Amino acid sequence: MNYDHILIRFGELSTKGRNRKLFIQRLSHNIKEKIENFSKIKIEKSRDRMFIKLNGEPHEPIIEKLQSIFGIHSFSLAVKTKTEVEDIKKGALFAVHALPYKGKTFKVTAKRAFKQFELDTNELNYAIGSHILRNTEDLTVNVKEPDINVRVEVREDASYITCKDIEGAGGLPVGTSGTGVLMLSGGIDSPVAGYLAMKRGIRLEVVHFFSPPYTSERAKQKVMDLTEKLTAFGHAITVHIVPFTDIQVAIQKQIPENYTMTSTRRFMLKIADKILQKEGGLAIITGESLGQVASQTLESMATINEVTQTPIIRPLITMDKTEIMDIAKQIDTLDISNRPFEDCCTIFTPASPKTKPKKEKINFYESFFDTEKMIEDAVNRTEKLLVTGKKTEIESKINDLF
Ligand code: ATP
Ligand code: MG
Repeated sequence: MNYDHILIRFGELSTKGRNRKLFIQRLSHNIKEKIENFSKIKIEKSRDRMFIKLNGEPHEPIIEKLQSIFGIHSFSLAVKTKTEVEDIKKGALFAVHALPYKGKTFKVTAKRAFKQFELDTNELNYAIGSHILRNTEDLTVNVKEPDINVRVEVREDASYITCKDIEGAGGLPVGTSGTGVLMLSGGIDSPVAGYLAMKRGIRLEVVHFFSPPYTSERAKQKVMDLTEKLTAFGHAITVHIVPFTDIQVAIQKQIPENYTMTSTRRFMLKIADKILQKEGGLAIITGESLGQVASQTLESMATINEVTQTPIIRPLITMDKTEIMDIAKQIDTLDISNRPFEDCCTIFTPASPKTKPKKEKINFYESFFDTEKMIEDAVNRTEKLLVTGKKTEIESKINDLF
Protein backbone atom coordinates (compact mmCIF):
# COMPACT_ATOMS: atom_id res chain seq x y z
CA MET A 1 0.00 0.00 0.00
CA ASN A 2 1.22 3.49 -0.81
CA TYR A 3 0.35 7.08 -1.68
CA ASP A 4 0.84 6.14 -5.31
CA HIS A 5 -1.90 8.20 -6.95
CA ILE A 6 -2.87 11.83 -7.28
CA LEU A 7 -6.59 12.52 -7.32
CA ILE A 8 -7.61 15.66 -9.21
CA ARG A 9 -10.88 17.56 -8.61
CA PHE A 10 -12.25 19.88 -11.29
CA GLY A 11 -14.52 22.20 -9.33
CA GLU A 12 -16.10 24.66 -11.72
CA LEU A 13 -15.53 22.34 -14.62
CA SER A 14 -18.04 19.83 -13.42
CA THR A 15 -20.86 22.34 -13.86
CA LYS A 16 -20.19 22.73 -17.56
CA GLY A 17 -22.89 20.37 -18.84
CA ARG A 18 -22.39 19.05 -22.31
CA ASN A 19 -19.03 20.72 -22.77
CA ARG A 20 -17.69 18.56 -19.99
CA LYS A 21 -16.13 16.01 -22.27
CA LEU A 22 -14.15 18.62 -24.17
CA PHE A 23 -13.03 20.25 -20.95
CA ILE A 24 -11.82 16.99 -19.49
CA GLN A 25 -9.98 16.08 -22.67
CA ARG A 26 -8.30 19.47 -22.78
CA LEU A 27 -7.33 19.34 -19.12
CA SER A 28 -5.91 15.87 -19.50
CA HIS A 29 -3.95 17.02 -22.57
CA ASN A 30 -2.62 20.06 -20.68
CA ILE A 31 -1.58 17.93 -17.70
CA LYS A 32 0.14 15.41 -19.95
CA GLU A 33 2.08 18.16 -21.69
CA LYS A 34 3.29 19.55 -18.37
CA ILE A 35 4.45 16.26 -16.90
CA GLU A 36 5.57 14.45 -20.03
CA ASN A 37 9.10 14.11 -18.58
CA PHE A 38 7.80 11.61 -16.06
CA SER A 39 7.41 8.78 -18.52
CA LYS A 40 6.00 6.18 -16.15
CA ILE A 41 2.91 8.05 -15.04
CA LYS A 42 -0.54 7.13 -16.35
CA ILE A 43 -3.58 9.39 -16.41
CA GLU A 44 -7.08 7.98 -15.96
CA LYS A 45 -10.18 10.10 -16.53
CA SER A 46 -13.69 9.81 -15.22
CA ARG A 47 -16.55 12.27 -15.55
CA ASP A 48 -15.77 14.15 -12.35
CA ARG A 49 -12.21 13.18 -11.43
CA MET A 50 -8.84 12.52 -12.90
CA PHE A 51 -6.28 10.14 -11.44
CA ILE A 52 -2.56 10.19 -11.99
CA LYS A 53 -0.94 6.86 -11.34
CA LEU A 54 2.63 7.63 -10.28
CA ASN A 55 4.16 4.21 -11.01
CA GLY A 56 7.19 5.10 -8.92
CA GLU A 57 7.68 8.64 -10.24
CA PRO A 58 8.38 11.23 -7.48
CA HIS A 59 5.31 13.18 -6.42
CA GLU A 60 6.92 16.48 -5.35
CA PRO A 61 7.85 17.85 -8.80
CA ILE A 62 4.55 16.66 -10.24
CA ILE A 63 2.61 18.41 -7.48
CA GLU A 64 4.52 21.59 -8.19
CA LYS A 65 3.60 21.46 -11.88
CA LEU A 66 -0.05 20.69 -11.17
CA GLN A 67 -0.35 23.85 -9.08
CA SER A 68 -0.04 26.06 -12.15
CA ILE A 69 -2.48 24.21 -14.42
CA PHE A 70 -5.81 25.97 -14.88
CA GLY A 71 -8.98 23.92 -14.54
CA ILE A 72 -7.84 22.09 -11.41
CA HIS A 73 -9.80 23.04 -8.32
CA SER A 74 -7.82 20.92 -5.87
CA PHE A 75 -5.84 17.72 -5.77
CA SER A 76 -4.47 15.25 -3.25
CA LEU A 77 -2.06 12.42 -2.90
CA ALA A 78 -4.24 9.32 -2.68
CA VAL A 79 -4.10 5.73 -1.55
CA LYS A 80 -5.96 3.40 -3.91
CA THR A 81 -7.74 0.32 -2.60
CA LYS A 82 -10.25 -2.26 -3.76
CA THR A 83 -13.86 -1.29 -3.21
CA GLU A 84 -14.27 -3.69 -0.26
CA VAL A 85 -15.03 -2.58 3.30
CA GLU A 86 -11.97 -4.26 4.81
CA ASP A 87 -9.60 -2.90 2.16
CA ILE A 88 -10.94 0.62 2.55
CA LYS A 89 -10.53 0.46 6.34
CA LYS A 90 -6.95 -0.71 6.01
CA GLY A 91 -6.24 1.89 3.37
CA ALA A 92 -7.63 4.71 5.51
CA LEU A 93 -5.54 3.67 8.50
CA PHE A 94 -2.46 3.50 6.31
CA ALA A 95 -3.22 6.92 4.80
CA VAL A 96 -3.34 8.49 8.27
CA HIS A 97 -0.20 6.72 9.50
CA ALA A 98 1.84 7.54 6.42
CA LEU A 99 1.27 11.28 6.72
CA PRO A 100 4.51 13.20 7.14
CA TYR A 101 2.95 15.27 9.93
CA LYS A 102 1.10 14.45 13.13
CA GLY A 103 -2.47 15.54 13.80
CA LYS A 104 -4.41 15.29 17.03
CA THR A 105 -7.92 15.16 15.60
CA PHE A 106 -9.57 13.70 12.51
CA LYS A 107 -12.85 13.07 10.79
CA VAL A 108 -13.91 10.77 7.98
CA THR A 109 -15.79 12.11 4.97
CA ALA A 110 -16.93 9.27 2.79
CA LYS A 111 -18.49 9.84 -0.62
CA ARG A 112 -20.05 7.16 -2.75
CA ALA A 113 -19.91 7.54 -6.51
CA PHE A 114 -20.83 3.82 -6.50
CA LYS A 115 -24.31 3.91 -4.99
CA GLN A 116 -24.70 0.13 -4.83
CA PHE A 117 -21.91 -0.21 -2.30
CA GLU A 118 -22.96 -2.32 0.69
CA LEU A 119 -22.55 0.47 3.29
CA ASP A 120 -24.17 3.87 3.04
CA THR A 121 -22.20 7.05 3.74
CA ASN A 122 -22.91 7.17 7.48
CA GLU A 123 -22.11 3.51 7.95
CA LEU A 124 -18.88 3.99 6.03
CA ASN A 125 -17.86 7.02 8.10
CA TYR A 126 -18.54 5.04 11.23
CA ALA A 127 -16.76 1.85 10.13
CA ILE A 128 -13.64 3.71 8.98
CA GLY A 129 -13.62 6.16 11.90
CA SER A 130 -13.82 3.45 14.53
CA HIS A 131 -11.15 1.41 12.77
CA ILE A 132 -8.78 4.39 12.88
CA LEU A 133 -9.63 5.12 16.53
CA ARG A 134 -9.02 1.52 17.55
CA ASN A 135 -5.65 1.37 15.84
CA THR A 136 -4.06 4.68 16.70
CA GLU A 137 -2.98 6.11 20.02
CA ASP A 138 -3.52 9.83 20.34
CA LEU A 139 -6.12 10.63 17.70
CA THR A 140 -9.62 11.80 18.58
CA VAL A 141 -12.58 12.71 16.40
CA ASN A 142 -13.44 16.34 15.69
CA VAL A 143 -16.04 16.79 12.97
CA LYS A 144 -16.00 20.59 12.99
CA GLU A 145 -12.32 21.44 12.68
CA PRO A 146 -10.23 18.31 12.34
CA ASP A 147 -6.47 18.39 11.76
CA ILE A 148 -6.91 15.56 9.29
CA ASN A 149 -9.91 15.11 7.02
CA VAL A 150 -9.84 11.52 5.80
CA ARG A 151 -11.73 11.70 2.53
CA VAL A 152 -12.84 8.42 1.07
CA GLU A 153 -14.18 8.16 -2.47
CA VAL A 154 -15.90 4.90 -3.18
CA ARG A 155 -16.07 4.16 -6.88
CA GLU A 156 -17.12 0.96 -8.60
CA ASP A 157 -13.69 -0.05 -9.88
CA ALA A 158 -11.58 1.23 -6.96
CA SER A 159 -11.66 3.52 -3.94
CA TYR A 160 -9.37 6.41 -3.10
CA ILE A 161 -8.37 7.79 0.28
CA THR A 162 -6.86 11.23 0.74
CA CYS A 163 -5.91 13.21 3.86
CA LYS A 164 -4.82 16.60 2.54
CA ASP A 165 -6.13 18.85 -0.22
CA ILE A 166 -3.74 20.99 -2.19
CA GLU A 167 -5.29 24.07 -3.76
CA GLY A 168 -5.25 24.12 -7.56
CA ALA A 169 -4.97 27.18 -9.78
CA GLY A 170 -8.73 27.26 -10.46
CA GLY A 171 -10.04 28.71 -13.71
CA LEU A 172 -10.68 26.77 -16.90
CA PRO A 173 -8.29 24.58 -18.90
CA VAL A 174 -6.30 26.74 -21.31
CA GLY A 175 -7.67 26.25 -24.81
CA THR A 176 -11.30 25.64 -23.86
CA SER A 177 -12.25 29.28 -24.48
CA GLY A 178 -10.60 29.64 -27.88
CA THR A 179 -7.68 31.81 -28.94
CA GLY A 180 -7.00 35.44 -28.03
CA VAL A 181 -4.31 37.85 -29.18
CA LEU A 182 -2.48 39.43 -26.25
CA MET A 183 -0.91 42.83 -26.88
CA LEU A 184 2.24 42.50 -24.81
CA SER A 185 4.28 45.65 -24.26
CA GLY A 186 7.01 44.86 -21.76
CA GLY A 187 5.28 46.88 -19.04
CA ILE A 188 3.83 45.56 -15.81
CA ASP A 189 0.21 45.31 -16.88
CA SER A 190 -0.04 43.33 -20.08
CA PRO A 191 1.58 40.09 -18.81
CA VAL A 192 -0.86 40.13 -15.90
CA ALA A 193 -3.73 40.58 -18.36
CA GLY A 194 -2.40 37.61 -20.34
CA TYR A 195 -2.22 35.46 -17.25
CA LEU A 196 -5.80 36.29 -16.27
CA ALA A 197 -7.05 35.55 -19.79
CA MET A 198 -5.31 32.16 -19.72
CA LYS A 199 -6.96 31.50 -16.40
CA ARG A 200 -10.36 31.73 -18.12
CA GLY A 201 -9.27 29.17 -20.70
CA ILE A 202 -7.95 31.43 -23.47
CA ARG A 203 -5.04 30.16 -25.54
CA LEU A 204 -2.71 33.07 -26.33
CA GLU A 205 -0.94 34.45 -29.35
CA VAL A 206 1.29 37.38 -28.39
CA VAL A 207 1.72 40.55 -30.46
CA HIS A 208 4.49 43.02 -29.75
CA PHE A 209 5.12 46.30 -31.56
CA PHE A 210 8.79 46.92 -31.98
CA SER A 211 10.43 50.15 -33.16
CA PRO A 212 14.12 49.72 -33.86
CA PRO A 213 16.41 51.59 -33.57
CA TYR A 214 14.33 53.56 -31.04
CA THR A 215 13.85 50.39 -29.05
CA SER A 216 16.67 47.90 -28.60
CA GLU A 217 17.01 44.15 -28.90
CA ARG A 218 16.93 44.10 -25.12
CA ALA A 219 13.38 45.45 -25.16
CA LYS A 220 12.45 42.56 -27.42
CA GLN A 221 14.19 40.13 -25.09
CA LYS A 222 12.05 41.47 -22.28
CA VAL A 223 8.93 40.51 -24.18
CA MET A 224 10.34 37.06 -24.91
CA ASP A 225 11.17 36.56 -21.22
CA LEU A 226 7.70 37.69 -20.14
CA THR A 227 6.15 35.30 -22.63
CA GLU A 228 8.35 32.54 -21.29
CA LYS A 229 6.86 33.16 -17.83
CA LEU A 230 3.35 32.92 -19.27
CA THR A 231 4.06 29.54 -20.87
CA ALA A 232 4.28 28.12 -17.34
CA PHE A 233 0.50 28.45 -17.10
CA GLY A 234 -0.37 26.76 -20.33
CA HIS A 235 1.36 26.15 -23.57
CA ALA A 236 4.03 27.15 -26.04
CA ILE A 237 3.24 30.68 -27.25
CA THR A 238 3.96 32.32 -30.59
CA VAL A 239 5.18 35.91 -30.37
CA HIS A 240 4.47 38.11 -33.38
CA ILE A 241 7.02 40.91 -33.49
CA VAL A 242 5.56 43.68 -35.61
CA PRO A 243 8.02 46.21 -37.10
CA PHE A 244 6.39 49.46 -36.07
CA THR A 245 9.04 52.09 -36.77
CA ASP A 246 7.73 53.21 -40.16
CA ILE A 247 4.22 53.70 -38.83
CA GLN A 248 5.40 55.59 -35.79
CA VAL A 249 7.59 57.86 -37.87
CA ALA A 250 4.70 58.49 -40.27
CA ILE A 251 2.39 59.32 -37.37
CA GLN A 252 4.99 61.66 -35.95
CA LYS A 253 5.12 63.53 -39.26
CA GLN A 254 1.46 63.61 -40.14
CA ILE A 255 -0.59 63.77 -36.95
CA PRO A 256 -0.78 66.78 -34.59
CA GLU A 257 1.23 66.01 -31.50
CA ASN A 258 -1.61 65.68 -29.02
CA TYR A 259 -3.27 63.04 -31.24
CA THR A 260 -0.19 60.89 -32.01
CA MET A 261 -0.83 58.55 -29.14
CA THR A 262 -4.44 58.01 -30.19
CA SER A 263 -3.38 57.22 -33.72
CA THR A 264 -0.59 54.91 -32.56
CA ARG A 265 -3.05 52.89 -30.52
CA ARG A 266 -5.49 52.68 -33.40
CA PHE A 267 -2.81 51.30 -35.69
CA MET A 268 -1.77 48.78 -33.05
CA LEU A 269 -5.32 47.60 -32.70
CA LYS A 270 -5.87 47.25 -36.42
CA ILE A 271 -2.67 45.26 -36.82
CA ALA A 272 -3.51 43.03 -33.85
CA ASP A 273 -6.86 42.47 -35.52
CA LYS A 274 -5.23 41.37 -38.79
CA ILE A 275 -3.01 38.92 -36.94
CA LEU A 276 -6.02 37.67 -35.03
CA GLN A 277 -7.83 36.93 -38.29
CA LYS A 278 -4.82 35.01 -39.59
CA GLU A 279 -4.55 32.94 -36.44
CA GLY A 280 -8.26 32.26 -35.97
CA GLY A 281 -8.49 34.31 -32.77
CA LEU A 282 -11.71 35.59 -31.22
CA ALA A 283 -10.65 38.47 -28.97
CA ILE A 284 -7.86 40.96 -28.33
CA ILE A 285 -6.49 41.21 -24.79
CA THR A 286 -4.81 44.33 -23.43
CA GLY A 287 -3.38 45.46 -20.10
CA GLU A 288 -5.42 48.65 -19.98
CA SER A 289 -6.60 49.88 -16.59
CA LEU A 290 -9.07 52.71 -16.33
CA GLY A 291 -7.59 56.14 -15.72
CA GLN A 292 -3.98 54.98 -15.56
CA VAL A 293 -2.72 57.07 -18.48
CA ALA A 294 -4.16 59.39 -21.14
CA SER A 295 -5.03 56.56 -23.51
CA GLN A 296 -6.99 54.80 -20.81
CA THR A 297 -9.87 57.19 -20.20
CA LEU A 298 -13.27 55.99 -21.38
CA GLU A 299 -13.31 58.72 -24.05
CA SER A 300 -9.91 57.65 -25.31
CA MET A 301 -10.87 54.01 -25.37
CA ALA A 302 -14.00 54.78 -27.35
CA THR A 303 -11.99 56.64 -30.00
CA ILE A 304 -9.31 53.96 -30.18
CA ASN A 305 -11.76 51.08 -30.07
CA GLU A 306 -13.68 52.49 -33.03
CA VAL A 307 -11.31 50.83 -35.52
CA THR A 308 -12.40 47.28 -34.73
CA GLN A 309 -15.48 45.16 -34.13
CA THR A 310 -13.45 42.45 -32.41
CA PRO A 311 -14.20 42.09 -28.69
CA ILE A 312 -11.42 43.55 -26.57
CA ILE A 313 -10.84 41.92 -23.22
CA ARG A 314 -9.34 44.17 -20.58
CA PRO A 315 -8.94 41.98 -17.51
CA LEU A 316 -7.34 44.80 -15.48
CA ILE A 317 -9.77 47.54 -16.33
CA THR A 318 -11.04 48.08 -12.77
CA MET A 319 -7.91 47.13 -10.87
CA ASP A 320 -5.62 49.43 -8.95
CA LYS A 321 -1.91 49.42 -9.76
CA THR A 322 -1.11 47.80 -6.40
CA GLU A 323 -3.51 44.93 -7.12
CA ILE A 324 -1.94 44.45 -10.54
CA MET A 325 1.55 44.50 -9.06
CA ASP A 326 0.59 41.87 -6.50
CA ILE A 327 -0.38 39.49 -9.29
CA ALA A 328 2.75 40.39 -11.26
CA LYS A 329 4.81 39.36 -8.24
CA GLN A 330 2.88 36.16 -7.85
CA ILE A 331 3.44 35.11 -11.46
CA ASP A 332 7.06 36.28 -11.36
CA THR A 333 6.85 38.86 -14.15
CA LEU A 334 7.36 42.01 -12.09
CA ASP A 335 11.17 41.96 -12.07
CA ILE A 336 11.30 41.45 -15.82
CA SER A 337 8.78 44.25 -16.43
CA ASN A 338 10.81 46.57 -14.21
CA ARG A 339 13.97 46.19 -16.30
CA PRO A 340 14.75 49.68 -17.54
CA PHE A 341 14.37 49.34 -21.31
CA GLU A 342 12.19 51.67 -23.30
CA ASP A 343 9.22 50.38 -25.21
CA CYS A 344 8.16 51.92 -28.48
CA CYS A 345 5.47 54.06 -26.89
CA THR A 346 7.46 55.68 -24.12
CA ILE A 347 9.82 57.06 -26.73
CA PHE A 348 7.13 58.55 -28.94
CA THR A 349 4.87 59.67 -26.11
CA PRO A 350 3.83 63.31 -26.63
CA ALA A 351 4.17 65.81 -23.80
CA SER A 352 0.42 66.23 -23.42
CA PRO A 353 -1.67 63.61 -25.15
CA LYS A 354 -5.41 64.24 -25.48
CA THR A 355 -7.38 62.57 -22.74
CA LYS A 356 -10.61 63.12 -24.68
CA PRO A 357 -9.66 62.61 -28.32
CA LYS A 358 -12.49 63.26 -30.80
CA LYS A 359 -13.33 60.59 -33.35
CA GLU A 360 -13.99 63.10 -36.15
CA LYS A 361 -10.63 64.75 -35.64
CA ILE A 362 -8.54 61.59 -35.64
CA ASN A 363 -10.45 60.25 -38.63
CA PHE A 364 -9.70 63.45 -40.50
CA TYR A 365 -6.01 63.40 -39.58
CA GLU A 366 -5.65 59.75 -40.57
CA SER A 367 -7.48 60.26 -43.86
CA PHE A 368 -4.16 61.42 -45.36
CA PHE A 369 -2.65 57.98 -44.79
CA ASP A 370 -2.87 54.89 -46.96
CA THR A 371 -3.79 53.03 -43.79
CA GLU A 372 -4.45 49.65 -45.42
CA LYS A 373 -1.09 49.62 -47.14
CA MET A 374 0.77 50.65 -43.99
CA ILE A 375 -0.88 47.86 -42.06
CA GLU A 376 -0.36 45.26 -44.74
CA ASP A 377 3.26 46.19 -44.98
CA ALA A 378 3.81 45.82 -41.22
CA VAL A 379 1.94 42.51 -41.09
CA ASN A 380 3.92 41.11 -44.00
CA ARG A 381 7.19 41.90 -42.29
CA THR A 382 6.13 40.50 -38.94
CA GLU A 383 8.52 38.03 -37.41
CA LYS A 384 7.15 34.98 -35.59
CA LEU A 385 9.01 33.45 -32.68
CA LEU A 386 7.90 30.39 -30.77
CA VAL A 387 8.41 30.39 -27.02
CA THR A 388 8.17 26.81 -25.85
CA GLY A 389 8.92 27.43 -22.23
CA LYS A 390 12.05 25.37 -22.74
CA LYS A 391 13.95 27.36 -25.27
CA THR A 392 13.15 30.10 -27.73
CA GLU A 393 13.18 28.95 -31.31
CA ILE A 394 12.77 30.86 -34.48
CA GLU A 395 9.69 29.52 -36.21
CA SER A 396 9.80 31.65 -39.26
CA LYS A 397 11.31 34.91 -40.30
CA ILE A 398 9.44 36.33 -43.22
CA ASN A 399 11.82 39.15 -43.92
CA ASP A 400 15.06 40.22 -42.41
CA LEU A 401 14.25 43.53 -40.80
CA PHE A 402 17.35 44.84 -39.26
P1 ATP B 1 1.68 47.88 -19.81
O1 ATP B 1 2.18 47.89 -18.41
O2 ATP B 1 1.12 46.58 -20.22
O3 ATP B 1 2.66 48.45 -20.77
P2 ATP B 1 0.51 50.42 -19.53
O4 ATP B 1 -0.29 50.69 -18.34
O5 ATP B 1 1.90 50.90 -19.63
O6 ATP B 1 0.45 48.86 -19.81
P3 ATP B 1 0.07 51.56 -22.11
O7 ATP B 1 1.52 51.63 -22.32
O8 ATP B 1 -0.79 52.73 -22.30
O9 ATP B 1 -0.34 51.00 -20.71
O10 ATP B 1 -0.52 50.42 -23.04
C1 ATP B 1 -1.81 49.95 -22.91
C2 ATP B 1 -1.87 48.55 -23.49
O11 ATP B 1 -1.56 48.60 -24.89
C3 ATP B 1 -0.84 47.64 -22.88
O12 ATP B 1 -1.27 47.05 -21.69
C4 ATP B 1 -0.66 46.62 -23.97
O13 ATP B 1 -1.70 45.67 -23.95
C5 ATP B 1 -0.78 47.48 -25.23
N1 ATP B 1 0.54 47.91 -25.71
C6 ATP B 1 1.18 49.07 -25.44
N2 ATP B 1 2.40 49.11 -26.05
C7 ATP B 1 2.53 47.94 -26.71
C8 ATP B 1 3.56 47.37 -27.53
N3 ATP B 1 4.72 47.98 -27.79
N4 ATP B 1 3.34 46.13 -28.03
C9 ATP B 1 2.20 45.47 -27.78
N5 ATP B 1 1.21 45.97 -27.04
C10 ATP B 1 1.35 47.18 -26.50
MG1 MG C 1 3.27 50.40 -21.25
